[in-house]
Amino acid sequence: MIKHHPSPSLLSNFSQGQLSASLSIGVSAHLELCNQCQRQVMQQEEIVMRQLCDEDISDTNSDESDNMFDTMLNSITEDDSELIPNHSEIRHINIKGNNYALPRALQSVRLSNWLKFGKLARAKIDLNEGQVHANLLHIEAGGGIPQHTHKGFELTLLLAGTFSDDRGNYVAGDFIWLNNTHTHSPETQSGCLCYTVANDALHFTQGISKALNPIGRLIY
Ligand SMILES: [Zn+2]
Repeated sequence: MIKHHPSPSLLSNFSQGQLSASLSIGVSAHLELCNQCQRQVMQQEEIVMRQLCDEDISDTNSDESDNMFDTMLNSITEDDSELIPNHSEIRHINIKGNNYALPRALQSVRLSNWLKFGKLARAKIDLNEGQVHANLLHIEAGGGIPQHTHKGFELTLLLAGTFSDDRGNYVAGDFIWLNNTHTHSPETQSGCLCYTVANDALHFTQGISKALNPIGRLIY
């Protein structure tokens, strides 16, 4: 079961279209796996639309306002069906013998080639957000990341497989937001694929930092 969700303010900013592309993709991919947050966002979007609608037609009476709102909602529902790719168009990636279907939110992003180091592999996602880097990170079964913290923030959305750290076990859909107050060393028994967003390199807290720098660079 998913235990980690975007914060209410992140969901609210998402509903209002105020997130950067990297975070918006993260929330959107989480919503594909989480009915609970999906419902919240739909409710928030409905409120935003009602407000917009009411502003537009403040002269008309409330019955007319409701009718216009329903018409608007219906037309949007019809449009949605055209945006959802049919099954044959779902984009898959192959990494180290594993095949993964990407969430809809990641269907059209530009992925770099995979860079591999030991059991880790990552593909950069080209979103052009300066210091903010988004990646797909794959960790092979039995792999992990040495204990580290972050100078900025790190979002990890688990897309497939499982991993664990000292805070618990994570399943597909878990949306894990960490900052410089958190230290962890994630490990995976079965292998996993994650979508990650970070605005600074990892800071290793154990071992010889210099020796671990290639891993830090690979992941950020
Ligand atoms: Zn959720």
